[in-house]
Amino acid sequence: MLELNDVSKSFGGTPVLKQVSLQLRGGETTVVLGPSGSGKSTLLRTMNLLEVPESGCLSINGDSVTFGATLTRKQVAAIRRRSAMVFQGYNLFPHETVLENVAMPPVLNGKADRATARARATELLGKVGMDHRLQEYPDNLSGGQQQRVAIARALAVEPDYLLFDEPTSALDPELEAEVIKVMVDLARERRSLVVVTHNIGFARRVADRIVFLADGGIGFDGTPEGFFASDNERIRRYLNVFD
Ligand code: ADP
Ligand code: MG
Repeated sequence: MLELNDVSKSFGGTPVLKQVSLQLRGGETTVVLGPSGSGKSTLLRTMNLLEVPESGCLSINGDSVTFGATLTRKQVAAIRRRSAMVFQGYNLFPHETVLENVAMPPVLNGKADRATARARATELLGKVGMDHRLQEYPDNLSGGQQQRVAIARALAVEPDYLLFDEPTSALDPELEAEVIKVMVDLARERRSLVVVTHNIGFARRVADRIVFLADGGIGFDGTPEGFFASDNERIRRYLNVFD
């Protein structure tokens, strides 16, 4: 379970999240939707403490932090190892091979020795269809391939939650489809996924739950069926853009 309680975050005095509360069960795919600037990234980044809100609390599977007080390094580390993030841009290490990009993080975390990490990395790269490019460097891959490697890398640290922040927004439709396919596979395995995306098809087909952010708060929290049938004016306006 990932739980946010009364979380508030502002930038330069402008509130972005206003007392947001959310409980995400494990084994579910939650898709976070909302207009640009509605705080989707801030919400996701709060989940692994890339952003630290002013108030509220966060707990993930027994590790908790309360915002407002100073967080200890130990608390931050405990929360961070519960999740792994996949960003929009390719954030692979450019000077390391595909294999090393995936094998390194668990070694650096002290979770595995190099041989074990490499074997596991090869297996994960197979899962995302990238085990034929183990010795390649990121620059020589397409954007879709890089994102699939980034997903394998996120899986390598065995996080409880995988957090995706618009992982396909920079990709052409064809490359987007290959990344979405990997994400669909993860959802079918009942991994715990939190996905910020504008891919409405993914939200409709794959989400167990839709969270819609608007005006600093949660404008909808429920099933895709409920969301897409909603007659709420703010939601209709958001969805009209995709029609
Ligand atoms: P979204 O991901 O939904 O587009 P964000 O969470 O990125 O929204 O941003 C929400 C609001 O907070 C925006 O108005 C954005 O300009 C502002 N914001 C986000 N990050 C920062 C930051 N580091 N410094 C100042 N303002 C920020
Ligand atoms: Mg964003």
